[in-house]
Amino acid sequence: MARIVMKFGGTSVADLDRIKNVARHVKREVDAGHEVAVVVSAMSGKTNELVGWVQNTPKVAGADHSIYDAREYDAVVASGEQVTSGLLAIALQAMGINARSWQGWQIPIRTDNAHGAARILEIDGGEMVRRMQEGQVAVIAGFQGLGPDNRVSTLGRGGSDTSAVAIAAAVKADRCDIYTDVDGVYTTDPRIEPKARRLKKIAFEEMLEMASLGAKVLQVRSVELAMVFKVRTFVRSSFEDPDAPGMGDLLNPPGTLICDEEEIVEQEVVTGIAYAKDEAQISLRRLADRPGVSAAIFGPLAESHINVDMIVQNISEDGSKTDMTFTVPSGDVEKALRVLGENRDKIGYDVIQNESGLVKVSVIGIGMRSHAGVAATAFRALAEKGINIKAITTSEIKISILIDGPYAELAVRTLHSCYGLDKS
Ligand code: ASP
Ligand code: MG
Repeated sequence: MARIVMKFGGTSVADLDRIKNVARHVKREVDAGHEVAVVVSAMSGKTNELVGWVQNTPKVAGADHSIYDAREYDAVVASGEQVTSGLLAIALQAMGINARSWQGWQIPIRTDNAHGAARILEIDGGEMVRRMQEGQVAVIAGFQGLGPDNRVSTLGRGGSDTSAVAIAAAVKADRCDIYTDVDGVYTTDPRIEPKARRLKKIAFEEMLEMASLGAKVLQVRSVELAMVFKVRTFVRSSFEDPDAPGMGDLLNPPGTLICDEEEIVEQEVVTGIAYAKDEAQISLRRLADRPGVSAAIFGPLAESHINVDMIVQNISEDGSKTDMTFTVPSGDVEKALRVLGENRDKIGYDVIQNESGLVKVSVIGIGMRSHAGVAATAFRALAEKGINIKAITTSEIKISILIDGPYAELAVRTLHSCYGLDKS
């Protein structure tokens, strides 16, 4: 007997037939004698629709065009998960399974006060666990919690993944299965490189990099939580036949296991290639090379909630002037230029340049820590294809390379094959 948290994303609960199919997956685990909690997303497209409604409501007179009451935003957008949790509980009951739905506030899942992007603070799973032990399946509305103001909060887009991992940690589940429309985590995006392979296992740290770099399988926050609480998390498909052989395997179900690196015996040097589109580069030329310059640039950008990524500063030739280049999402360029313009006197640059439509391609693998020459291999391979590198940053387990947008796919394929990731 094990305790399992099963999470189903929007495409898996998109209509009543799919909800029935989800119920069959749940039944399989219940029939095997496991204690089961299920976390559901809203039907696919639903949250977008709800967000759209909120954004199109009349504005409060005199308010900034983008401001609406975030508490009411949460009241509206949390409703999608309320619907699917109830529907799945009904579908389970129709199969003779004892099940009930739980809204975030009923458990309760306590969050902070950041409506629209709340963080989970505490989950009191006591009553839920007691019922699970009596054989009742808990069907939990993902994405939502209860703020300190006693109002519904939501966890940011894609937040049901985080609900699932947090619940798995809170109830000390043996496993957290994230059922989605793909059957696992791949060495790279299979739409770009058909030779991409599904990984059996990936370390938390690697998955964190893959997730934050645009491999959109999981919300980044959920991977952070899984890493902190060491929740063994499987990414697997909800579209496979629920009763196919091996689907109920307790230790090795089909899919990708995200786990501690110690569990990965045959560690490859490189695990995957990720990419992030729509990056923009901003360069400040001939800055004074003195203490406080970086703070003068990045302080105001941070205050304006602009997410700065790669930062490259040149060592100045004569100790007086330097250049600073960094990247931001393309959508933030205008705002960043405005902020930097307003702070021009304080920063003291000569000219400012920018370029949009860039792509960041990253090579990821914890094996890099103990291997030399990983970066050189990438640079050589890209050079052979005539791909120009605009900026490079590295960490212990990652090399990120900024290139022109049109070369993205070629670069991904080139890197994928140069590290031997192509399936044979
Ligand atoms: N329904 C929410 C969203 O679309 C949460 C989730 O699906 O994870 O962002
Ligand atoms: Mg999702």
